[in-house]
Amino acid sequence: MSRVEIIAVGKEILRGKTLDTNSNWIAQRISALGGKVARITVVDDLIPEIVKELKASLNNRSKVIITTGGIGPTFDDRTLEAVARATRRRLILKQEALNLITQRYRELKQRGFVDSEELTPSRKKMALLPRGSTILPNSVGTAPGIKLSSKGTTIFCLPGVPAEMKAIFEESLVRELQNTIGKQFFQERKVSVDLGDESRLAGVVDQVMRQVSGVYIKSFPSHFGKEVQLPLGITASGNTQKEVEDLLRKAIERLKEELERIGHSLKEFPEE
Ligand code: AMP
Ligand code: MG
Repeated sequence: MSRVEIIAVGKEILRGKTLDTNSNWIAQRISALGGKVARITVVDDLIPEIVKELKASLNNRSKVIITTGGIGPTFDDRTLEAVARATRRRLILKQEALNLITQRYRELKQRGFVDSEELTPSRKKMALLPRGSTILPNSVGTAPGIKLSSKGTTIFCLPGVPAEMKAIFEESLVRELQNTIGKQFFQERKVSVDLGDESRLAGVVDQVMRQVSGVYIKSFPSHFGKEVQLPLGITASGNTQKEVEDLLRKAIERLKEELERIGHSLKEFPEE
């Protein structure tokens, strides 16, 4: 499976002011698209910090790196400068991006949301992109996202504002990701087991995961007790829908058999 890393940029997250919901949302979407999120990091808005993490992710031979945050008009929006440094490129004023930004501020002025449509240095800054970037239009805000390829890794830079990040992801990234991580099918089945003690389940889960390779079984314990139903999430991905369904069915059958052996049973939930 293609390795994907996510880097969330923003001092506000490290200070505890903002919860990094973007990484969580992106991780869910990547998993659903059949990619494997291998690492999520949060860094300060400082160029050396961002460069350090980008280089680490590039060294990890990630197929895809997604950054979120730090591409807006303010002084602390430094992500693109860091991407340029980490990939040894120059920042250049991209006319296509400037056109989009110009058009966006014109619309905002017409709707009375901003005082002027003038292209101030802060606004122009959002069109300064690492050489070789492709623009991902932002239908909700002003700063476009970018796509950049570097030595086998595709880097996507998205805004921090959740609505903008999600819009660019759905409108551009999903299609782009199908080219980079391939079209994969992914599915999750939820079941529960009449066991409050996760440690009793560990051996069973290990065995089934070894026997049905390609499935991942995760238990979600909350508390101990005789009446506890322990929820399990069973996930699989593959090249076809049928392959994924077969893997999940096989895993559930094997789990049932192994649980019966130790005097327990499994309950299936209807598919979502
Ligand atoms: P930025 O574009 O990085 O300046 O972020 C703009 C705003 O988006 C921030 O002030 C936060 O409220 C929000 N934001 C930034 N990063 C994240 C994140 N990782 N998760 C959730 N919200 C975020
Ligand atoms: Mg900002």
